Amino acid sequence: MDYQVDENTLKDNVILVTGAGDGIGRQAAISYAAHGATVVLLGRTVAKLEAVYDEIENLGYPQPAIIPMDMMGATRQNYLDMVDTIEGQFGRLDGVLHNAGLLGVLSPFEQLGEEVFDDVMQVNVKAQFLLTQAVLPLIKQSPHGRIIFTSSTVGHEGRAFWGTYSISKFATEGMMQVLADELNNTQVRVNAINPGGTRTAMRAQAFPAEDARLLKTPAEIMPLYVYLMSKESDSVHGQCIDAQPKRKPGAAS
Ligand code: NDP
Repeated sequence: MDYQVDENTLKDNVILVTGAGDGIGRQAAISYAAHGATVVLLGRTVAKLEAVYDEIENLGYPQPAIIPMDMMGATRQNYLDMVDTIEGQFGRLDGVLHNAGLLGVLSPFEQLGEEVFDDVMQVNVKAQFLLTQAVLPLIKQSPHGRIIFTSSTVGHEGRAFWGTYSISKFATEGMMQVLADELNNTQVRVNAINPGGTRTAMRAQAFPAEDARLLKTPAEIMPLYVYLMSKESDSVHGQCIDAQPKRKPGAAS
């Protein structure tokens, strides 16, 4: 796939990024702003969101906005209120990157705890469902609405000990496909990205012994993130695309 986009491809667009305070979400927010977008930074740790906000401002990109929200406890009403705030402040929403996620605990299936199961499914699946329902009316008004989910290699290939995380990513890909099929005849494009092993806190939690220097950084996988959010990706719909297609899953290289 050709990821070439115009450098101002996201000019005047308003894009919501969940989990924007750290890791891949932080970098995606900065990259979208670099291409002209006003980014709405959603996350649970305000200090991290403020740091990203300052970084974007210091780089001279469009002034972002911050929405502090813990997706573990957020309700449908919280998401509806969020959409009211975005509509009131900007009058539009063109794209959402569902990026926030929880790894949970890697363990044998028989030992998976119910509480961890519920937490991971809440943040990785139900929160995306509620947020997507809330934003759809506004996204549908955009000339080229974009919804990007975040999956994983274990979201289409079950792997021992990846338990709830893997189950939640299968659900994410299912949600993406259902929604994409329903929106076939609209201007909204719905896809998912599998980042592949990327140098972040979550990756370090999953693979504490590996040499993180061998992993791609979030900045290095951004071309796909920007392309799928841009108007250049009009023909891509209902797909889960690898940001690192040549990478061997599980390996640090
Ligand atoms: P990080 O753990 O580095 O960042 C996750 C972000 O999500 C953080 O900003 C975190 O906030 C936020 N978040 C977590 N829980 C909540 C919550 N309850 N409410 C709001 N925000 C929350 O992860 P990555 O950047 O590595 O992962 C980003 C996405 O990519 C995830 O969906 C992950 O599953 C997926 N992925 C990552 C891979 C990798 O190798 N890194 C590989 C495959 C998929 P806070 O900083 O406050 O904790």
